[in-house]
Amino acid sequence: EERIIAPQEQPADQGGEILRPHRLADYVGQSTVKENLKVFIQAALTRGEALDHVLLYGPPGLGKTTLANIIAAEMGVGIRTTSGPAVERPGDLAAILTGLEPRDVLFIDEVHRLSRTTEEILYSAMEDGCLDIMLGKGPSARSLRLSLPPFTLVGATTRAGQLTSPLRDRFGVIARLEFYEVEELLQIALRTAEILRLTITPEAAGEIARRSRGTPRIANRLLKRVRDYAQVWQDGIVTKDLASEALNRLEVDRSGLDKIDQRMLRAIIGTFSGGPVGLETLAATIGEESETLEDVVEPFLLQMGFLQRTPRGRVATSKAYGHLQIPLPARDEGGLF
Ligand code: ADP
Repeated sequence: EERIIAPQEQPADQGGEILRPHRLADYVGQSTVKENLKVFIQAALTRGEALDHVLLYGPPGLGKTTLANIIAAEMGVGIRTTSGPAVERPGDLAAILTGLEPRDVLFIDEVHRLSRTTEEILYSAMEDGCLDIMLGKGPSARSLRLSLPPFTLVGATTRAGQLTSPLRDRFGVIARLEFYEVEELLQIALRTAEILRLTITPEAAGEIARRSRGTPRIANRLLKRVRDYAQVWQDGIVTKDLASEALNRLEVDRSGLDKIDQRMLRAIIGTFSGGPVGLETLAATIGEESETLEDVVEPFLLQMGFLQRTPRGRVATSKAYGHLQIPLPARDEGGLF
């Protein structure tokens, strides 16, 4: 079953297009990235050139796709959207590139998942604005060089480290998106409520913001679920009490942890005296795949400071004890701690 607090896009997020801000001024937070982009866009517009290639990286749901669309809107150009896995063959990419209008944005999501041959096509396209195509095979093969209209590649990836260095080096602008502050998510929740014509108090928006794991996509998703409770329980107005009660029923706790997060922390504390415990042992104990724990459970717990990774295994922090309201074990005065 899908976790309501998963940052990846889900069927429940469908129709989210109307929630996307369309201009830089409406894009909440990420002030450093926004300020820089504003300057680069202004400069490119003044010169009448395409914007330099932009790499956006950061966890899912933080607004990379949204920002790519905003860049095109601010530049006043079109945008073509695809993803690394979707342009498997070089010919697919060549078709897209030759179809671009001058200065258009080509957005490639999951750009780290391009096949090697496709990626190589991108090198000369990004650097020299041309496309080298091989015609035929064997001794009679020859290559043809096509020049392309100037364009801006906007690439998105969850981890810049997964990108090959020749590709990374061809981006003139590299921007890392950060998790959002509660105050920023509160603004996003209020904005979304307005679009959905939902009456919500700022305190209720704050309650949703605190449980959204720093991620706008999760804030929007939780808001939509809370709206369902509001419609059934009380004439559609979302108060703080209603939001808390609804989110409790959705099993998202007051720091945004769900059952799996809690199970992992409780196992470390209850079964392994707070750790350290190896990932495999932990996974077997709570009946999850170790990959699941590592990829989708741990990152948020680490980010929140509930969990530490040590060479000897995972350790629950005192903050985790506090959050779960479990008393810290008494430490032996002369001992290790
Ligand atoms: P990503 O591409 O990084 O996975 P998206 O751009 O699809 O994330 O963003 C997910 C959703 O969150 C979007 O539908 C958008 O409505 C919302 N969102 C993201 N960033 C912002 C922001 N800065 N301000 C307002 N809403 C945002």
